[in-house]
Amino acid sequence: MNGRIHSFETFGTADGPGIRFVVFLQGCNFRCIYCHNPDTWPLSAGSEYSAEEIAEMAARYKPYFDASCGGITVSGGEPLLQIKFVTALFKLCRDRGIHTCLDTNGSAVRSEDLDELMEYTDLVLLDIKHIEPDMHKNITAAVNQTVLSFAKYLNDIGKPFHIRSVVVPGLTDSPAYITALKNFCSGFSTVEKIELLPFHKLGEYKWKELGIPYTLGDVLPPSNEKMEVLNKILNS
Ligand code: SF4
Repeated sequence: MNGRIHSFETFGTADGPGIRFVVFLQGCNFRCIYCHNPDTWPLSAGSEYSAEEIAEMAARYKPYFDASCGGITVSGGEPLLQIKFVTALFKLCRDRGIHTCLDTNGSAVRSEDLDELMEYTDLVLLDIKHIEPDMHKNITAAVNQTVLSFAKYLNDIGKPFHIRSVVVPGLTDSPAYITALKNFCSGFSTVEKIELLPFHKLGEYKWKELGIPYTLGDVLPPSNEKMEVLNKILNS
């Protein structure tokens, strides 16, 4: 089973617990206005690798995973666009005793394929762009009903997950929004963590290179003080 891969990160520490081998897959259906990897959007780009090749690459780092409670994370792009490949990869990682983590935008409805993938997934990082439908449509090219249902699905099957949300000034940085996000998450017993990620513009140059208009050029990243205030609300 082969997959289309954008890139790899060894010794990643931002996408799941411990030290992680992060695989960024090609293909995304969301078109978020703050995406820092718009070059992952086309499913046909990138390079082809087999699940076996990637499992072997990950296995080289197993001593580091074991020492740090880390493992492999599959991110993107949107990994669920290549669900059978991710399932094949996670099965091989499970055979090798490697912790598996899926970083997803949650844009998949329940199916046999998704149930099978979840059997081999230890942890899910669910990125929520906005919990209000209209605002979600302002940020992405997709509706958020599937994403919110995905959170319920994870809870219903007892799957541990983290919710991650990007703090964008003017879109997701109000105390009222963070309170609403917190209330939404409080309905789920398998949420282990809620993470607020500050918006940044490190990928702006890629939009320019690809000739895609970037609408957040004038928006500044949230200050550390702002992030502190919002995190306090989240943890209060
Ligand atoms: S879901 Fe992630 S990869 Fe896809 S457009 Fe949004 S930020 Fe980019």
